[in-house]
Amino acid sequence: MTEQADFASTGVSATAPEGGPSGAPVDVDIAAVLDRAAAGGRITPEEALVLYRDAPLHALGSAADAVRRRRYAGTEHIATYIIERNINYTNVCVTACKFCAFYAAPKDVGKGWTRDLDDILRRCAETVELGGTQIMFQGGHHPDYGVEYYEKHFAAIKKAFPQLVIHSLGASEVEHMARISGVTVEEAVTRIRDAGLDSFAGAGAELLPARPRKAIAPLKESGERWLEIMETAHGLGVESTTTMLMGTGETNAERIEHLRMIRDVQDRTGGFRAFIPYTYQPENNHLKGRTQATILEYLRMIAIARLFLDNVAHIQGSWLTTGKEIGQLSLHYGADDLGSIMLEENVVSSAGARHRSNRMEIIDLIRSAGRVPAQRSTTYEHLVVHDDPANDPVDDRVVSHLSSTAIDGGTAHPELKLVDAR
Ligand code: SF4
Repeated sequence: MTEQADFASTGVSATAPEGGPSGAPVDVDIAAVLDRAAAGGRITPEEALVLYRDAPLHALGSAADAVRRRRYAGTEHIATYIIERNINYTNVCVTACKFCAFYAAPKDVGKGWTRDLDDILRRCAETVELGGTQIMFQGGHHPDYGVEYYEKHFAAIKKAFPQLVIHSLGASEVEHMARISGVTVEEAVTRIRDAGLDSFAGAGAELLPARPRKAIAPLKESGERWLEIMETAHGLGVESTTTMLMGTGETNAERIEHLRMIRDVQDRTGGFRAFIPYTYQPENNHLKGRTQATILEYLRMIAIARLFLDNVAHIQGSWLTTGKEIGQLSLHYGADDLGSIMLEENVVSSAGARHRSNRMEIIDLIRSAGRVPAQRSTTYEHLVVHDDPANDPVDDRVVSHLSSTAIDGGTAHPELKLVDAR
């Protein structure tokens, strides 16, 4: 298949009965729009909605793959992964998001916990020992943790492990810590950046449009405010990734509106390195009965993100919430990255994400999907290209959920003397 795919043979056109994101009905020639998008042309939110909903699945994926291959011409045969650890410093949270199975309210005596600095540093040491390059410091909105808490912890981590990239937090945590400390968002970002934060992980985006956001996270800042804080961070030199939580009852139009809001900010800042959609997990939370996103909806989102977010470099497929085979398929629908081997993860695992993997398996998954696997850095440089299976890494300790509490088998590894996180 050539880089510029020809989708005229699909011969499909559609009118959006529910209208575009703006509500106005639109006629869209699907084949023509797919051809334009595959050739690198920008598509409108209205066109994106019709493609997302009505384009033939394989034509949509082919167009997205054409865009990926053009963007990465010369290295288009490669798909990346990273080794990292989520360090969940506390589960105490005042924000009570309805989809969250991880948090404990401050009044829930006996349920809340906080890790001390020694524990956190030990987890960093284990990450380094296993070849991890990044930590995601991720936790609840603790009522006592202001900017000072994060300054202290980031400075200590950087002092002990300067080789670890701190890719952590997001706009919601910044809003919260700034409020606790009585400072501006600009000051909060500047201070935690100077203490050691390298980039924001972009958690908390959930769904940015107002209706679905209020339905699942009524106490969180608005989507506009989330983006405003990210824009401020980008202006202060702190780049980020961005995410989408799919499947809590949002409409297709709201999914596309989420992408539009991101693209508009990215046009101004260029600070979003990657877009990472993932699917809602239904266990142990307050959204029981909600419809989950289907696998096909997920693949269509990967593809439409690659086509619509023409200003975001990386699209990440999630094997953690959708499964390994879907992760592999996502590499043919526009994704260039398969995310991470998470040595520890407790947040989405608490809500039911049961998929586990290890480094050797991720390498094999990427290879059997027809790509050359490469371990990457936080900023997507290729650290190790696994172009010869004879030289594949053999360390079987590099497994996901090594010390997670939220998944069976995610216990401490005896050789590493990992702590019992409970
Ligand atoms: S998603 Fe984050 S902010 Fe929301 S309740 Fe869970 S820990 Fe708190």
